[in-house]
Amino acid sequence: MTTTAAAVALDRAPNGAAGAAEKPAVKSAAMIDFHLHIKHFNRNLPATIAHIEGLGCEKAVLLPLEDIASGLLLTTDEVLDAHRQYPQRVIPFCQVDLRRDDFERRIRAYAAAGCRGYGEQKQHLPLNDSRIARMLEVISEFGWPCTFHFQDGPKGFNQGIEQHLEALLKRFRRVKFIGHAQSWWSHISADAPPPEVSLYPKGPVKPGGLTDRLLADYENTYADLSAGSGYLALSRDEPFAADFVRRHRRKLLFATDCPCHNGNGANWKGGCFGRNMISLLERIADAGTRADIFRNNATRLLGSA
Ligand SMILES: [Zn+2]
Ligand SMILES: [Zn+2]
Repeated sequence: MTTTAAAVALDRAPNGAAGAAEKPAVKSAAMIDFHLHIKHFNRNLPATIAHIEGLGCEKAVLLPLEDIASGLLLTTDEVLDAHRQYPQRVIPFCQVDLRRDDFERRIRAYAAAGCRGYGEQKQHLPLNDSRIARMLEVISEFGWPCTFHFQDGPKGFNQGIEQHLEALLKRFRRVKFIGHAQSWWSHISADAPPPEVSLYPKGPVKPGGLTDRLLADYENTYADLSAGSGYLALSRDEPFAADFVRRHRRKLLFATDCPCHNGNGANWKGGCFGRNMISLLERIADAGTRADIFRNNATRLLGSA
C-alpha cells in the first residue's frame, strides 16, 4: 500500500489485469481477508470496514506499515485502535521499522497488547539483513505468521528471494512465512525474468517455479493471493493455476490488499482485487478448496479467528 501517490512502487498489475466482470459479492460472512490496510490511498477506517463488509468478509487482518524513510506510516497503534473500535472485524498485526534501535522492545510490547502476527514486512532492506533475522527470532517465540512483501530490484523490499529465502525458512521453523507481491508471484514460473525486465510477467507458466517448490517443501510456507500480483499469477495461465491451487489448497490465503472503498471497486479503476479473485477462484477451484482458501487456512494459521 501507499499513503501518497508518489511514495513507493505499487503492487498493481498494469493494463487492467484485475479486470474480471462485475459479479455480486459472495455472501459468505465467513471469509477472512488476510491482507488489508487503513489509509491505503487515504482510505479512512469506516471505509476500510465498509470494504470488509461490502466484499462479504467477516474479518480482515489489518497490517501496519511503518517505513520512516519513505514516509509511509500506518502504525501498529492505529491498527490496535481499529481493533478496539471494531473487534468483530479487525485482526491486528504488528510491524515496526527495523531500522529503529528499539524494534525488539516494541514488538514484545505489541504482542502483549494483543497483536496476532507480524507484517507487512516491507522496508528497503535485503532479505539477508541481520535485523530481519533478529525480528524473525523474536516472533518465532510467539509462533506468529509473518507477511512479506517480496520485491527485487534497487527500489525493492526484502530483496534476494532466490538467494536468501530458503535459508530463513529452514532456520525459523516456528514462523509461518506468508509470501506476497511481485517477486514472490513472478517466481510461480521457472522462467521469472529479472526485476528490471518485468515485475509482472505474463503468459503461460513454466512449471518448477521457486514459489511452487517452497510451498510444497516447507510446512511453514504460505502465500496470500492479494493485489494485482496475486491476481496476475493465477490468471496468466488458468489451467496451471487450477492445478497449483489444488496442490496448495492448505497453503493459500484469500487476501485483497485492495484500496477500493466498498469492496465493489469504488475509487479504484480495474475493480476490487478481492472481488476479481473470488470470480477467478469460482472458475478454477472446487467448493472445498475455496472454503480452505477463504477461511479455514486463516483460522488454522492464527489458532482461531
Ligand atoms: Zn500490503
Ligand atoms: Zn476492493
